[in-house]
Amino acid sequence: MDTDDIEQITVLGAGTMGHGIAEVAALAGYHVVLRDIDDDLVTEGYEQIEWSLGKLAERDRIGETAAEEALERVQPVVDLAEAVGEADVVVEAIVEDMGIKREVYDELSAVAPDDAIFASNTSSLSITDLSEATDRPEQFCGMHFFNPPVRMDLVEVIRGEHTADTTMDAIEGLAEAFGKTPVRVRKDKPGFIVNSILVPLMNEACWLVETDTASVDAVDSTTKYGMGLPMGAFELGDQVGNDVTLHVLEYMHEVLGGAYEPCPLLERYVEDDRLGKKTGVGFYDYENGGADVPADRSSADIERRLLAVLANETGKLVQAGVAPPTDIDEAVTLGAAFPKGPAKLTDEAGLPALVETLESRHEETGHARYAVSAGLREAADRGGFHADGDSDEQSVAFDTIRVEYPTEMVGEVVLDRPQQLNTVTLELIGELEEAIDMLAADEDVRALLLTGAGDRAFSAGADAMSMAGQADPINAIELSREGQRVWGKLETVSMPVVAGIDGYCLGGGMELAACADMRIASERSELGQPEFNLGLLPGWGGTQRLKHIVGEGPAKEIIFTADRYDAETMADYGFLSEVVDSGAFRERAVELADDLAHGPPLAMAFTKKAMHAGRDDTDAGLEVEAFAFGHLLGTDDVIEGVTKLQSDEDPQFEGT
Ligand code: NAD
Repeated sequence: MDTDDIEQITVLGAGTMGHGIAEVAALAGYHVVLRDIDDDLVTEGYEQIEWSLGKLAERDRIGETAAEEALERVQPVVDLAEAVGEADVVVEAIVEDMGIKREVYDELSAVAPDDAIFASNTSSLSITDLSEATDRPEQFCGMHFFNPPVRMDLVEVIRGEHTADTTMDAIEGLAEAFGKTPVRVRKDKPGFIVNSILVPLMNEACWLVETDTASVDAVDSTTKYGMGLPMGAFELGDQVGNDVTLHVLEYMHEVLGGAYEPCPLLERYVEDDRLGKKTGVGFYDYENGGADVPADRSSADIERRLLAVLANETGKLVQAGVAPPTDIDEAVTLGAAFPKGPAKLTDEAGLPALVETLESRHEETGHARYAVSAGLREAADRGGFHADGDSDEQSVAFDTIRVEYPTEMVGEVVLDRPQQLNTVTLELIGELEEAIDMLAADEDVRALLLTGAGDRAFSAGADAMSMAGQADPINAIELSREGQRVWGKLETVSMPVVAGIDGYCLGGGMELAACADMRIASERSELGQPEFNLGLLPGWGGTQRLKHIVGEGPAKEIIFTADRYDAETMADYGFLSEVVDSGAFRERAVELADDLAHGPPLAMAFTKKAMHAGRDDTDAGLEVEAFAFGHLLGTDDVIEGVTKLQSDEDPQFEGT
């Protein structure tokens, strides 16, 4: 069966994952049968899909008609034979129990069409073992979605020992048709890729606390603010469910041995029903404020220990042929929202030093989890996991942006951190500068288009977490100057610059867009300068450049209220030159940039220069802005603002 032959998909299990997978398939235009063991369960799953499609329409992510049509494509069914009679692919998402899954596969084999492919969404069971419970092990693979399937881009497609190439190709093609990014897991290893990295990391975090080496606060402060991961290790564990982590770990322990011995701390938490968010309490108390990770407890020792574990596990995956470093990085950035994959993170930290950390821990404790994997040793000797660069890697020159050429004369810079709403890190600032210089030097490029990856954000502003380490006033002044300077390059580059805004355009993102010559946005976009909510000021040119576009009165209103504005209002204010239907946005943004690219290059260059030179003394204003930013970033107010950022509480500013 080829991807093109697939028309009907049956999803078994209408629970958390099943209904989400069915929704994704229906949105992609497939006829979907959703099956569960009784009417109530299948109806509940169907209603969840209806609710979720409604939400997507309400947020303008899809149109009302698309939502209605997707729902019409979903058929809830209880009888198994009826559910799979016409299926081309059966995605199984029933309870995680080998016995029950085997029974279902046995029954399914008898009633499904001979050429139908079976794909299991299991998180931890062996794909090979499951395939052997069917009459078609070669037409069987893993198709591991992440929760919630509608939002998460990654699908791990797992090859079992018997899986045919054609099966892998068809299911990878299907994941792409769903609008997802498939990453091939070439060997059936417990934990596949993402959990093979995350679960041992969580276990090591527990061991650090269990052995009184560190506190929960220090571990989470290090993972979140030191390593720049989206959450603290314990915060993430609470979100996933400590029972789920333990379950995968126990399975890894059973199959792979002593290196995965679960830490007693984790076992105690599960025994005491402190499972995390779902039980209201885990490592944090969710009935009393939830995770409150301090920004200032990061420790270099903890960071090195956790990075050493990441490097070791990455080495094991590479060595076992589960995936090459590039695929591991892609899977973990998409599946766990890491800012960089574990191979890249640990390469940057320096593999030889991490090998030393493991060796000295191994000598001290004798524990198998510190035994250096051959894959890590080999990568360290070679100069890094990415030292010899696989082919994909060589074509990707940047990590946080992409440069594309949508027409012959338009160079496009895409801010490419979609899982983080394209927020701005120091690395992104540097890469953006490099890309602007590169396009400016390219004679074929006559207009620059700046966009954000995905359909949720142009850029939601500075990555608050990655900036938290810059609180020292001198660093903060430099940080402000750096953003001002690089954003300002868009004003001085001789070609026209269009900012194409689809989704959030906030804070530093709006300041970046303000440096473009023209701005076009989709209807669903929301713009604003929320810095006051953090006790900060818009420090990448916002106090100076916005007023040149909208006038001082509206600029003050936008900054002082810190409100979000819809695209129509921002067009009325003169910030946007055009607002277009969300579906037509991309085409129109490229068309506008291409129109400008066909204009007279010299007249364009001189006009930009003259208009820029004729402004009042912005540079003096920028200097004041940078000093003010430098002062503010070290204040208690900013710590208060950043701390409350992800909580429901309003910050209480004291002016200190
Ligand atoms: P869930 O408990 O929410 O849903 C499971 C559903 O399967 C239930 O509605 C149940 O009635 C149904 N079911 C039970 N026996 C059945 C049978 N014989 N035939 C048909 N349906 C049956 O579980 P979930 O979280 O959706 O997990 C489902 C699968 O997805 C598991 O294999 C799990 O490991 C995997 N998974 C879960 C997550 C997650 O975050 N929840 C992520 C990735 C993968």
